[in-house]
Amino acid sequence: MPDDTGGLFDSSIQENQAKTYDVIIVGAGAAGIGVAIALADAGVENFLIVDRDTVGSSFSSWPDETRFITPSFPSNSIGMLDLNSIAVGVSPGYSMKIEHPTGAEFAQHLQDLARYFKLPIQENTDIKVIEKQQDLFYLTTDEGVLTSTNVIWAAGEYQYPNMDVFLGSELCRHTATVGNYASLEGDDFLIIGGYESGIDAAYHLSKLNKKVSVFDMNNPWDSTTSDPSVSLSVFSFERMRSPNFHKKTELFPGTQVNSVTLDNGVYELETEDGRRFHSEVQPLLAGGFSGSHNFVSHLFEQREDSFPLLSECDESTVVPGMYLCGPSVRHDGHVFCFIYKYRQRFGIVANAIARSLGIETDEFVKNYRSWGMYLDDLSCCGQECLTC
Ligand SMILES: Cc1cc2nc3c(=O)[nH]c(=O)nc-3n(C[C@H](O)[C@H](O)[C@H](O)COP(=O)(O)OP(=O)(O)OC[C@H]3O[C@@H](n4cnc5c(N)ncnc54)[C@H](O)[C@@H]3O)c2cc1C
Repeated sequence: MPDDTGGLFDSSIQENQAKTYDVIIVGAGAAGIGVAIALADAGVENFLIVDRDTVGSSFSSWPDETRFITPSFPSNSIGMLDLNSIAVGVSPGYSMKIEHPTGAEFAQHLQDLARYFKLPIQENTDIKVIEKQQDLFYLTTDEGVLTSTNVIWAAGEYQYPNMDVFLGSELCRHTATVGNYASLEGDDFLIIGGYESGIDAAYHLSKLNKKVSVFDMNNPWDSTTSDPSVSLSVFSFERMRSPNFHKKTELFPGTQVNSVTLDNGVYELETEDGRRFHSEVQPLLAGGFSGSHNFVSHLFEQREDSFPLLSECDESTVVPGMYLCGPSVRHDGHVFCFIYKYRQRFGIVANAIARSLGIETDEFVKNYRSWGMYLDDLSCCGQECLTC
């Protein structure tokens, strides 16, 4: 199949349909590419990565100005993996010489890794349906059906923005659809959601001298936890201390938005306590993502919070051979939403699959564990930093 990344990811669907794979990975983002490298390290050879778009495409569709909040630092030489690395021996900080990459830069990094590790990838192939019959998974695409004995769902969340948040939320624009903050017209922005994406939008808009109001039902700017899955990152706190942010941005903590309406070209935002805010500019919704795991909900039991219920090796508890990788992974109260968190489960999934294929994995597990890439004991998670 032709490809705009230089013809490297060019296996054809006709060729691929003729085979039965040991594993098909759906999604060529950070999770899909990372778990593919772990599979190869564990000795699995007969696998394919499929993406509806191109390698790293979710990252390349971030707003141009948005950067990683987690810093990259080449710490591998002392056995500590760079925070934004998805594979043992890899450091985006070292290879890119950028501490906080943009989405486009990280997408390029993923493409470079796919080439370096010679990963088998079929791009521009949307998986429409996954079914399991007897021992085989059938993955239906527009052009035919792919088959495998295991599937890893690594389809992410960015392409599934949460638009159903309150009455009239469909009138807002989700931050995931913003190509560039500098190109947004208007001077008075209402932003609903004050976690990372909302503060990112407020920072860039206030830098452009726009007036910004940020509403959040909680108070992520004054959280008492050190876990960045709940509290704001250091990078964002630093940005909030910039002079323009102070001058141009007003924060409304503990403020639930009840509705947005549009009348005569003016948007009205009403809060639960009856306050009303007006602007001619389309409000921005930074309300998170519903996640692609809903697409495969028929293959997993669900937890109370509607995330997939997983076995201790991130396999479905009801459909053997169906695995989940990426930011939707949850175990008890542990949320694996950042790369440095969910990458620690790639080795667990790769090990389970390799062993099911009869491959000896002791060395692989030992190596991954030594790199902090094999987190099978979750009792250490959730510990808070000391106050000093
Ligand atoms: C604004 C923003 C900033 C962030 N900053 C950080 C940060 O600083 N540090 C950090 O660690 N994390 C950060 N994250 C989180 C991080 O981006 C995500 O965890 C990461 O993108 C998830 O990777 P993934 O591979 O699971 O999903 P994705 O990167 O979204 O990849 C999923 C892939 O699956 C493909 N796909 C989806 N559905 C199908 C289908 N049906 N068939 C075929 N292919 C399909 C898509 O085309 C896509 O390429 C940030 C997220 C956002 C939104």
